[in-house]
Amino acid sequence: MLAWKDGQPYSERYGDVYFSSDSGLEETRHVFLQGNDLVQRFAALGAGDSFCIAETGFGTGLNFLCAWQLFEAHAPQGASLDFFSVELFPLGDEELRAALALWPALGRYAEAMLAFWRRRVPGWNRWSFAGGRVRLTLAMEDVAQALPQLPERCVDAWFLDGFSPAKNPEMWGDGVLSAIARASHGGTTLATYTSAGWVRRGLQQAGFTVQRVPGYGRKREMVRGQFLASAPASRGGATSRNVLVIGGGLAGCAVARALAQRGIQVTLLERSPQLASAASGNPRGILHARFGAGMNALHRFVLAAYGHALALLDEVSPVDGKYRAECGLLQLAGTEEEAKRIVRLAAQEWPPHLLQTVDAKQAGHLAGLPMAHGGLWFPAGGWVVPPEVCARLAGHPDIELRLESEVTSLQRTASGWRVGGEGFAFDAEQVVVCCAHQAKALAPFAGWPLQPVRGQISLLPSTPESERLKTVLCVDGYCAPAVAGVHVAGATSSFDDDALDIRAADHAVNLGRIDAHMPSLYRALGGAAPVSGRAGVRCSVPGATPLAGKVEEGLYCSLAHGTRGLLTAGLAAEVVAAQMCGQLPPLPQELLDALSPSQRLRNKGK
Ligand code: SAM
Repeated sequence: MLAWKDGQPYSERYGDVYFSSDSGLEETRHVFLQGNDLVQRFAALGAGDSFCIAETGFGTGLNFLCAWQLFEAHAPQGASLDFFSVELFPLGDEELRAALALWPALGRYAEAMLAFWRRRVPGWNRWSFAGGRVRLTLAMEDVAQALPQLPERCVDAWFLDGFSPAKNPEMWGDGVLSAIARASHGGTTLATYTSAGWVRRGLQQAGFTVQRVPGYGRKREMVRGQFLASAPASRGGATSRNVLVIGGGLAGCAVARALAQRGIQVTLLERSPQLASAASGNPRGILHARFGAGMNALHRFVLAAYGHALALLDEVSPVDGKYRAECGLLQLAGTEEEAKRIVRLAAQEWPPHLLQTVDAKQAGHLAGLPMAHGGLWFPAGGWVVPPEVCARLAGHPDIELRLESEVTSLQRTASGWRVGGEGFAFDAEQVVVCCAHQAKALAPFAGWPLQPVRGQISLLPSTPESERLKTVLCVDGYCAPAVAGVHVAGATSSFDDDALDIRAADHAVNLGRIDAHMPSLYRALGGAAPVSGRAGVRCSVPGATPLAGKVEEGLYCSLAHGTRGLLTAGLAAEVVAAQMCGQLPPLPQELLDALSPSQRLRNKGK
């Protein structure tokens, strides 16, 4: 809980202020921005370069906002900023709003951050600002857990900003300092407001030179330092300025946008006459974060992807009731298996804006119809129109769309890759394959365990009674509130089936689930037959964790999103784009490894 002392944010947990009571803003500028020579270093960047700042202690985000403002003022167009920070005790929405209201000069930046703040999830968060020019990666976990997950030699400048070393020693301990050293390279600098002797000695031991210089306000001294190593930064490197992306579903459109935002010219090849013609083509898709209490790598990825997807959709498809609704989603304990999973999940601590446990009565109140079961309530859940999301993702001036261009061959050449199909051939240094199980037809993906999974949805006519449904309901299937007289219910799963016919038996499965687990809705629907349906084929892999990242030199993929593409395509695209551009990844190394095609397939002995 944030407290206030003399008009300044104060932590009762640590007994310390978040920043100098003279002026937090001026302190940030003096200690962290000047202490790392950021004006000069930003100005010296070239177009296409990226600069990485890492911070210990995000707090109110003041340092981040100041760094962003300075970057905007001094870095050339085409350069980008990665800002990484950690925070174990994130402020609440209103606390953060109140703390940032102290700085009217940062109003525009603060508003942008506050808009994403309500999308925060435990673990790593990745949000892009200013058209992708500034990326924030915020690890909401203990510093000791987060820092060792950074790539080696990726950070250019450190802001060491824990509470005072006497009150918050775990932010300044040897383990943290050696993780800082591991993520530093020959040109890395650091700055901190403290000149405590044991911190200085710790920094020296970790490999930094340490210089005492005048501090800000009442602080006589602060410390700046430089990492003593010759090894260069692990990041950077030449990215080709033209990239081919194969596949115009959510995965491909999201990759195309993530690359275009990094200043890359993208050619997006789609075999159909329009985007989102396969699994991403349903008239409505639900935002459903399904994870398990064990929080394995897949669950942690889905959690991070959920927060990322909500923030990305806020940009490309804001809530408007037509293309997106944030009506909330109830995951009901309708089966024994679901009930067990929900009990285990509910036993963990969750921020209420993310998920809450509800009983049957509360569920009925939220849903607008009586519910037989309680379960989990996801206030930010809802639905979107996936083809519209695809169109908006791909609607970037640096994305050239080539429809009706089915890629049938992908071959290595002396300088990169040749992509060919009927009547066309393109050469590119870098290619990203995002065409689901059809990738198997391309030589480098032959034999990959990509499985087609047919799914059919049912469009059900609403009745005055069923129009009372206010939220998405999920058990083993789902049903969304009516829009223009139609509910969307789904979806079936038939493995190794890629047929697109509409089957009465599949409609019966969708309706049967509503009957079994959402009886009041079933009655409200009044037994009318579905008005129509749609079948799509998604792509899955054993274990269900998508594949995202490098396959081999110049070849990348984002594949196997299964039923979760709406959530996972955006974050997978950030993984791929960051890797291609040599920038800070949006996820901890453990999760990058879990997504990595080369590691996964190598482990399987492919
Ligand atoms: N840089 C911040 C700003 O611009 O407002 C001020 C940071 S404040 C002095 C220190 C922050 O470190 C607090 O928000 C605190 O919750 C966080 N913190 C303390 N111990 C931590 C730990 N072990 N892991 C992660 N964060 C921690």
